[in-house]
Amino acid sequence: MTAPRLEIDLGKIRHNARTLVERLGSQGISVTGVTKATLGSVEIARELLIAGVRDLGDSRIENVEAMRRSRVSARMSLIRSPMLSQASRVVKSVDVSFNTELEVIRRLSFEAAKLDRTHAIILMVELGDLREGLLPVDVMAAVREVLSMPNIVLKGLGTNLACRSGVSPDDRNMGKLSRLAVQVETTFDISLETVSGGNSANLDWAFSSSKTGRVNNLRLGESILLGREALHRRAIDGLHTDAITLTAEVIESNVKPTQPTGVLAQTGFYTSPECEDRGDVAQSILAIGEQDVDLGGLQPPEGCDVHGGSSDHLIVTSGAGRIVVGTELTFKLNYGAMLRAMTSPFVAKSFHCASNVSNLRQIA
Ligand SMILES: *Cc1c(COP(=O)(O)O)cnc(C)c1O
Repeated sequence: MTAPRLEIDLGKIRHNARTLVERLGSQGISVTGVTKATLGSVEIARELLIAGVRDLGDSRIENVEAMRRSRVSARMSLIRSPMLSQASRVVKSVDVSFNTELEVIRRLSFEAAKLDRTHAIILMVELGDLREGLLPVDVMAAVREVLSMPNIVLKGLGTNLACRSGVSPDDRNMGKLSRLAVQVETTFDISLETVSGGNSANLDWAFSSSKTGRVNNLRLGESILLGREALHRRAIDGLHTDAITLTAEVIESNVKPTQPTGVLAQTGFYTSPECEDRGDVAQSILAIGEQDVDLGGLQPPEGCDVHGGSSDHLIVTSGAGRIVVGTELTFKLNYGAMLRAMTSPFVAKSFHCASNVSNLRQIA
């Protein structure tokens, strides 16, 4: 079979999505399935919809457009603020966009009017993580302005924590979002359909808090795909953490010293942690590198250690002796490694459900 490849178990992804949809649903929270880490994979998008996610979210207009072309039938959100230069495309293929700039919303309004349609927006609020968002003090004025714009519907408020600074969602910042939503509703006599509290970093809070308040939506990518919450990367009870794995092929197998010889300066890319001199070890080179995956985010199989790498090579040592050339090794991945592998044209995507392999697709 083609290597390197991501083995993607659609059954496990469906299970993860359904479990999260059900658990959060019992707390009145809907799930937006985030597809950005999958390059807008149609196969995965379909599983998310079967599992009961309310809608799909992606940060790239290209992914949304690709899913539309493939006839994925769902409401789609653009969860990164639109570029001014892409406003027309956004209005054409996205139902709801997340926004923080009035200038952009004005342009969306203009483009929506040209097409004689309405475009819905969520206003994002900054609550401490210092990525996107209006400052809370500016929200009421922004809402007033948005409500006056033709062909724009204010669908709700949202926030995003943890991604930039690691700020944890808790009753305090989520409570603030809830209070802002209520304040908008009472001041302007409108009702907000969606109060979107965050991402996979919100799950610990959502499962343990008795005060979810007005928060009625989370946007989930990592927790569905990798079965982990995003604050401490702990496995979530009942979810699969191996729905997606990476398989690569050994192209050289030899016994070499653990320590390099010569005067050491900079390396190409990945620098493995300091390693004690273990004498000679069985070292294998796999045909995959930094161009395809974040080597630091790989978890090797039992008995093997990731020992180094470069743009096109991954070096693994194995305690059990030499690995035969041509052997395939399978790794678990963290989010960053998965994201890069999913978007590398050199990594094939092999979709299957349990043991039933189907639809091997290679882009390159
Ligand atoms: C990426 C992203 C998400 C999904 O994050 P996960 O940690 O993968 O669940 C949600 N919201 C926004 C705004 C994002 O950019």
